[in-house]
Amino acid sequence: MNIILFGAPGAGKGTQAKLITEKYGIPQISTGDILRTAVDEGTSMGIEAKKYMNDGKFVPDSIIIGIIKERLSKDDCKKGFILDGFPRTMPQVIALDELMGEMNTKLNKVISLNVPDDLILVRVSGRKVCKNCGTSFHVKFSPPKKENVCDVCGGELYTRKDDNVETVSKRLIEYHSQTVPLFNFYKDEGILVEIDGTRNFNVVTKEIFDILG
Ligand code: ADP
Ligand code: ZN
Repeated sequence: MNIILFGAPGAGKGTQAKLITEKYGIPQISTGDILRTAVDEGTSMGIEAKKYMNDGKFVPDSIIIGIIKERLSKDDCKKGFILDGFPRTMPQVIALDELMGEMNTKLNKVISLNVPDDLILVRVSGRKVCKNCGTSFHVKFSPPKKENVCDVCGGELYTRKDDNVETVSKRLIEYHSQTVPLFNFYKDEGILVEIDGTRNFNVVTKEIFDILG
């Protein structure tokens, strides 16, 4: 099963992708996570990407498409995958389409988690992420049992550099102007499902599992 998850920053893509991974045994491919690892490791790609990420801008398509080509060619993607944070631009959509053709496979479902901007700002401003496993928490809405410690793996929680109101506002502008228009492409293919991402996480998970079957 090959799935794309769309959603603004903080819409819940990462959280839902992790649950899909567990249930269907397919890997979560998050371009944001891959980029953050490159930034932490100080690779040349990381150094380049950091300039854009800290400013709430999209990283250039050439870098992103390179990351995806390499990742999708790994063996664990043969059973399927969940794309979380990719594609975000039209050139990325086209590259993915070509890549799927080469791999002799196709997308099964494209799910968009819809959350209005005002709620996104509230969610992202209290977000804390595990350094080790990437699980997200929220200081008010879903706090960890122990402050700054991940419930899942015991890792340390941190606030992402780009999770502040100013940068999130810029990311939302990018999302609405560049990513939302891509929905039409998948609507035409008849595989887009838009769901209400404002509800409790468990309710959203159940709806996603119902859609995926
Ligand atoms: P979010 O969905 O919360 O904005 P991500 O962790 O998916 O965060 O991405 C963080 C940042 O990484 C983005 O703001 C952007 O700079 C960069 N990025 C991730 N995926 C892509 C992509 N497909 N195209 C361009 N830039 C990307
Ligand atoms: Zn963790």
